[in-house]
Amino acid sequence: MYIVQIASECAPVIKAGGLGDVVYGLSRELESQGHCVELILPKYDCMRYDHIWGLHDAYRDLYVPWFDSWVHCSVYCGWVHGQVCFFIEPHSEDFYFDRGCYYGCNDDNMRFAFFSKAALEFLLQSNKRPDVIHCHDWQTGLVPVMLFEIYKYHGMANQRVCYTIHNFKHQGFGGTDILEATQLRRPEYYFSYDKLRDNFNPFSINFMKGGIVYSNAVNTVSPHHAWEARHTTISYGLGHTLELYQDKFTGILNGIDYGFWNPENDRYLPYHYSADSFEQKHYNTKALRERLLLREENKPIVCFIGRLDDQKGVHLVHHAMYYALERGAQFVLLGSATEAAIDQWFRHEKEFLNNNPDCHIELGFNEELSHLIYAGSDMIVVPSNFEPCGLTQVIALKYGTVPIVRGVGGLVNTVFDYDYDQAHPPEERNGFVFYESDNTALESGLGRAFDLWGQNRKIFEQLAIQGMKYDYSWKNPAQEYLAMYDCIRHQ
Ligand code: ADP
Repeated sequence: MYIVQIASECAPVIKAGGLGDVVYGLSRELESQGHCVELILPKYDCMRYDHIWGLHDAYRDLYVPWFDSWVHCSVYCGWVHGQVCFFIEPHSEDFYFDRGCYYGCNDDNMRFAFFSKAALEFLLQSNKRPDVIHCHDWQTGLVPVMLFEIYKYHGMANQRVCYTIHNFKHQGFGGTDILEATQLRRPEYYFSYDKLRDNFNPFSINFMKGGIVYSNAVNTVSPHHAWEARHTTISYGLGHTLELYQDKFTGILNGIDYGFWNPENDRYLPYHYSADSFEQKHYNTKALRERLLLREENKPIVCFIGRLDDQKGVHLVHHAMYYALERGAQFVLLGSATEAAIDQWFRHEKEFLNNNPDCHIELGFNEELSHLIYAGSDMIVVPSNFEPCGLTQVIALKYGTVPIVRGVGGLVNTVFDYDYDQAHPPEERNGFVFYESDNTALESGLGRAFDLWGQNRKIFEQLAIQGMKYDYSWKNPAQEYLAMYDCIRHQ
């Protein structure tokens, strides 16, 4: 099958979070199963050019219709760790992708509306006719809209779209200006409830809603989150739309790329290990302590890796840190905050705990350090408010680091409580789960992990080894995506 993925991220060249990992990991797996996969991405000025091989201009003069005129673009081609990618660079005064950041500009809706239009125009003009176009999140929600309202009539009638929602919180909104820019010319048509009109704001179109309404198949990134999206408020106002389109909506659990995340050959680790040589993990713990100037003592290390924001349960992360210290454990935090107030808060904590030999706070994005933290820690805490899939607990499992998670979204589908899980026998359990979003619940989960670590180290290590044996690679999810592609291809 010929698949084109259109996305705003692809790890490791453009990565702000899990979306990048998913786009890269799924593409690689589909290719290894014999399919042809190409990626279309924006050419950001700040992406990691050192991860792209053989970057060259592949299509010099792409003219993208925009408002009443055209924007001249160049399309570059290069290989990101073996995966062929096309990068779109507009030459316009708006400098859409020359902002020194991926997201966070006031005109993000215009930037990604433009990218969606340019990606389709590139497919059209370069005569690429994929069987399936796979789009991701709000940034590319307008791709199916434009495909079926415009490009279908210009020779792209046989293309089908699969739309994956990684996070309902960010949906992408706009007004008539977006419709004018993309040449979706009849505002009264697109502003109707059954098309793009936001379910709650009649003066706004909603990109993600467009993605759901127009795509042939829609999914989110875990079965439990798909259920939550339909039956709770976690879909941020799109519940009714999902209800209407329930027949084409499912949940497919993300995988991780074991070529990149594997303690047996991880390029960033000083010592390699596997489930059969679990004792070697300990050397990474030593290396982590040395690197972060933590004292060498017989204490468990708990870590948190991720964005510091409301979604990730930032107040519980903060509480976990002090609770771990109170219980005589060590704590390592690697995170970046998107909001200034949260950033300030953790900068203050960092200063306050600077001389504490049992705690280290690292603010910012550091891929390499994250690998050592996954490998060197004994436990990871993931107290999210909501979590569509969550990758950090899945990576931690592979590295023999026991997850302590809140039972929401994909965390429910991947972590099975040591004491209470009913669906798995004891030899298949792999972590600790708590449910409420408060300090007491967090302490109950983390406390049980500390107790087991302190009272029966052998059993704790056995639990970590059981986690390492789970297969959360892309093999099975890729099969599910292929089944979905196959189904829509024949519609
Ligand atoms: P998100 O909601 O941000 O997509 P996920 O758990 O799905 O969260 O994915 C997070 C990914 O980003 C993981 O690969 C994790 O290791 C990585 N990550 C998050 N924050 C950082 C950071 N500060 N430094 C390095 N890697 C990070």
